[in-house]
Amino acid sequence: MCEHHPVSAEGAKLVDVSKMDRRDLLRGLASGSIVLLASCATYQNPETGRGQFIIVDEAQLQQASLSAWQQMRQQTPTWNNAAAQRRLETVGRRIVNAAGRGNQSWEFVLFNSDEKNAFVLPGGQVGFYRGLFEICATDDYMATVLGHEVGHVTGRHAAERYSRETATQTALQVAGAAVSSDMAMAALGLGAQVGLSLPFSREQEAEADILGLNYMRAASYDVRQSIPFWAAMQSGGGSRPPEFLSTHPDPANRIERIRGYINQQGWGPV
Ligand SMILES: [Zn+2]
Repeated sequence: MCEHHPVSAEGAKLVDVSKMDRRDLLRGLASGSIVLLASCATYQNPETGRGQFIIVDEAQLQQASLSAWQQMRQQTPTWNNAAAQRRLETVGRRIVNAAGRGNQSWEFVLFNSDEKNAFVLPGGQVGFYRGLFEICATDDYMATVLGHEVGHVTGRHAAERYSRETATQTALQVAGAAVSSDMAMAALGLGAQVGLSLPFSREQEAEADILGLNYMRAASYDVRQSIPFWAAMQSGGGSRPPEFLSTHPDPANRIERIRGYINQQGWGPV
C-alpha cells in the first residue's frame, strides 16, 4: 500500500495516480503538473516481497505481448516433434502449477532453430529453441529453464523494465523544456516497442533463477541438477557462448549463486 500521494508541482492538489489512465498520467508528467513520487508507483510483489516501480497498464502489456508472440511465430518456424512438444508441455505445466499460476493461460512452443535459447513474454507465451532442447538431457534440466522463464513472469520483470524505460524517456523530455503531450505519447510508443525486447537486468535474472529453483522444488524436480545444466550450457557453446548465456549473467557467478542458495535452503549439498 502506498503511504504517500503524488502531488502537483504547486503542492496544492493531491492526485491519486491509481485512478488515472496512463495517457493522463503521462500528460501530467510531461506538462510538469504532476510530480510522480517513485514510492507511489511501488507495487509490492507478493512472490518476492520486493517493491517494484510499475506504471504499465496490465491489459495493454498483455496485448503487446500477444502481438509480439504472433510476429515471432510468423518469423520462426516451429519444430514439429510431437514427443518433444509433449515433454515441454508436461514439464511446463508442472512448473506453472507449482508456481500457483496454473489458472492463467500459458503457451509452450518449440522453435526449429539451433539457438540454445528460450524466452518468455509477459502474457505467458514461452518459446523454447530446439538447440536448447537438445541440451536438456533430463526433465530436471528443462525444469531449470522453465522455472527461470516462469520466474520472469511472476516477478513481473517485463512490466518493471517497461515502466523504467517509459519513465526515463518521459523524464528526459520533461527535462528538455516545453514538450507537448504528443511528444510524451511518441516516447511511450517507442517504449512499447522496446519494452518487450529489452533485455532483463542482472538483478532480474538473478531473481528469476531463485524463483525458478523454488518452483522446481515445489514441482518435485531435482534442484541440484540445475548445476550440471548450467555447466553444460557453459561448455556447450564452442568458441562462442550460447545466446542464453550472453544475454544472461556471468555463468561462473551464476552457478556459485545457485549453489549457495540450494545449500542455504538445505536442498543440497551441491
Ligand atoms: Zn532470463
